[in-house]
Order: sequence, then structure tokens, then C-alpha cells
Amino acid sequence: MREEAPLNIVIIGNGAAGTTCAEHVRKFSPDARITLIGDEAFPLYNRVALPPMLKERIPEARVMLRDLAWHDKMAIRLELSCRVTTIDRTARTVVDDKGRIHPWDRLLIATGGRPLPLALEGAERATNLHHFQYLRDTRALMEASQPGRTAMVCGGSFISYELAEALMERGCSVHWLIRGSHFLRRVLHAEGGAIVDGIARSHGVHMHYGVEIAHLDMDGDQCRSVRLTNGTALTCDMVALGIGLSLNTDLAKAAGLDVRKGIVVDRHLQTSDPDIFAAGDVAEFEDIWIGGPNLMGTWNNALGHGKVVARRMLGEDIAYEEIPEYTTGMFHQKMTAFGVTPESVGGVTSTWRANAEAESFRQLFFLEGRLVGGVLIGADTSERKAYKEIIRSRAVHDAAAMEALLDPRPKSAANT
Ligand SMILES: Cc1cc2nc3c(=O)[nH]c(=O)nc-3n(C[C@H](O)[C@H](O)[C@H](O)COP(=O)(O)OP(=O)(O)OC[C@H]3O[C@@H](n4cnc5c(N)ncnc54)[C@H](O)[C@@H]3O)c2cc1C
Repeated sequence: MREEAPLNIVIIGNGAAGTTCAEHVRKFSPDARITLIGDEAFPLYNRVALPPMLKERIPEARVMLRDLAWHDKMAIRLELSCRVTTIDRTARTVVDDKGRIHPWDRLLIATGGRPLPLALEGAERATNLHHFQYLRDTRALMEASQPGRTAMVCGGSFISYELAEALMERGCSVHWLIRGSHFLRRVLHAEGGAIVDGIARSHGVHMHYGVEIAHLDMDGDQCRSVRLTNGTALTCDMVALGIGLSLNTDLAKAAGLDVRKGIVVDRHLQTSDPDIFAAGDVAEFEDIWIGGPNLMGTWNNALGHGKVVARRMLGEDIAYEEIPEYTTGMFHQKMTAFGVTPESVGGVTSTWRANAEAESFRQLFFLEGRLVGGVLIGADTSERKAYKEIIRSRAVHDAAAMEALLDPRPKSAANT
């Protein structure tokens, strides 16, 4: 009997999705040949741990999740500082920036996203302008944010919030510039934004809403002050940006795969070419909880995608069915978001309840009366588990029942 050749698996991107996929392919297939290609210089590290590293609550060593020895032990060929430049679907190969050709039977694109640049004169040469996506960014931010310095933080979403909090904790004077009317304005009701505003101000952050940087005043390669769209000028020692990600879809687009905002995949995370998969931040996947496409930039989503792709590549009939969640500290409070928010899908209605004195806020999102997601601030974040059970039940709620869901979830239910 003729022996089948071992499956050749190539994974582009060694972040959470890519490395998890490699690990789970090995778990279920001792024979598969696995090549993991990443353009950063490090094996998998924990992006979620970059804010605690910036706050110096943990050392850099605790951010690292895998080392070279682990890849050797797992027989995963790891190519670091190596960028894939082309996917050839006819030859079933990828080509890297060193001109090497890697053949595949199954291919995973897990390339994540890169920070959006600030489109202003001087930004490209400003060495005191920082992003917060990679380990190298975190090192640079730590170097730049010495106590007593003044930092501008731009953006109205999670990364800008992490920056504002961490730079305050490092002893900087922080101006947080938010283009919209409040934090996370596409998700949170204004009353939720007001709670976040109060929390940030109580820690000394200078809040500015409805503004963007209009002009960078440059002195050589240093931005010395910024002028805002409302005319205000603010001197600064550094500018930190959390203004969004551009998903790394270029390889998929050039290879003729379906791409919208992300790389389009079905519920099995297969692209329009069934031997090519996409996972993690870059994947626009068919979300069974909304019955439509979704993009989810969370750590758990990347891990969950990686596991499903591994098993699907090996022939299992498996789909992605997790409800994603994102939990983070918020100065002295906590915040958790779970499931779908109005940012990811249209037609969502919501109910909310704010308690300014207790600094607590909860908002729940519904599609045709079914709970599909929510945000909790200053509440017991473990309550998300009970809410996720309600999402799974697909129960339809009338207005009174929607309102009643805003009551804190019983502890026993939250812990089931
Ligand atoms: C500061 C920060 C804090 C965060 N906090 C949280 C949190 O509290 N909770 C949460 O759930 N999520 C959080 N996230 C988001 C979470 O980290 C991401 O959703 C997750 O890491 C995405 O994993 P990924 O594998 O899809 O992509 P990435 O981790 O982006 O990995 C993709 C990798 O592919 C590489 N690559 C791209 N193109 C190529 C190419 N052509 N060739 C080779 N390599 C390539 C990239 O350089 C990168 O190394 C945070 C993110 C950041 C930056």
C-alpha cells in the first residue's frame, strides 16, 4: 500500500492565531510538516501583556510566551524576521523576502493588522511619535515616557485608553485627544462615555473631545508641539497614537482571494480557496451568533480561530462558534466587552444603565430581541459568563425583559 505523504502546512504570521494553529496541528498530527513564518524578530509574545509591561508591572520576560526551544521540540520550523511577499495559488507555494519558496498543501494567513499612520506633514520623520502594537513599540515608549514629560495620546478606542493609563502611571502629564464625542463612541452610549471620562479625569488625565491633531510643529525629527483642529496649541515631548489598525490583507488580495475589510472566510475559516484559511484579527468570519460577517480584534478570538483552523486543515468538520470577549483594567476599574457590538454589525439596538456615583455602567446589545453582546464597566466582569449563556440560548426578549437583563446577574449563574 502506498503511504500518503505528510501534509505540508505553511502559516504566515506567528502571532496568537498562527502559533496556536501550529501547536494544534502538531497536537493532532505528529507527521505534518509545519512552517511558521513571521516578520517580527521574536517567537510568540503576549500583546495583551504589553500594557502591564509599559506600566512596569511585569518584566519583558513575562511577555514572552514561546521560545525557540519550544518550536524545536514541537518540530515546527520557525522563520523569524522573514516576510512573505507572494502567495502563488497555482504552484501552491509562498515566496519570502529572501527569495525562498515554501510549498504548501494547506496555508493559513494570520497576518493581523498594522497601526494606521498619522497622515500629517512631519509624522514620517518624527522619532517621538509612537504606536503601540509591537514589542519594539513598547520598548520605545518606555524609553520615551520619562516622568515629568508631556504626552499627547490620540484615539478614542482601547489602545489609546491603554496608552493614556500607562503613560499616566509612568509619571507623564497626559492629554488624551478623542476625535468623537466620547470614548468608544461607536459602541458605548454617551452615559458610558461620561463614566470613563470621570474615571480618567480622577487620575489626572486632561481630556479633549471633538478634536484631532491638525499640525505637528517639528524641530528636526522631534515634534515639539501640536495644533489641534479647534486651534488649541499644546507643547509636548511625545505623541502616542492609538488611531486604529489597517488589516494586512494585501497578500490575500494579490492572490485573488475574497477580501472586504478583512479576508473573507466562512464558518470553518476557509477563504474562497478551500485550502487557504485566515484567522485572528485579519479574518472577516461568518459569525454564527449574528448570522453574518464579523471582525474581532481580541486575543481569545485569535486563539480560538487558530485551534479551529488546525483541526479543519486536518479534515475535521468543525466551525468557529465562540463568543469573543475582551476584558481589561480601566484605571482603578475594570471593563469587559463580549459578543457583538454596533461597531461590528448594523441593526443593533441597546439598553443601558449608568451609575455615576458607583462608576458603573452596563450596556447590552440586541438583534431582533436576541442578546448578542454587551459592555460592562465597573461591574463584576465575571458576569459576562452568565450573559454569554443567554446569548447561546438565543432567547427572544421583549422591552421589559431587555431592561431586566440590566440587573446584575446572580453570582451562581455567572459562575456556571
Ligand atoms: C497593546 C495591545 C493591547 C491589547 N490588549 C488586549 C486585551 O486586553 N484583550 C484582548 O482580547 N485583546 C487585546 N489586544 C488585541 C490582541 O492582542 C490581538 O487581537 C491579537 O494579538 C491578534 O492576534 P493575531 O495572531 O490575529 O495577529 P498579530 O498578533 O497581529 O500577529 C500577526 C503577525 O503576523 C506578522 N505578519 C504580517 N504580515 C506578514 C507577512 N507578510 N509575512 C510574515 N509575517 C507577517 C505580523 O508582524 C505579526 O507578527 C491588544 C493588542 C495590543 C496591541
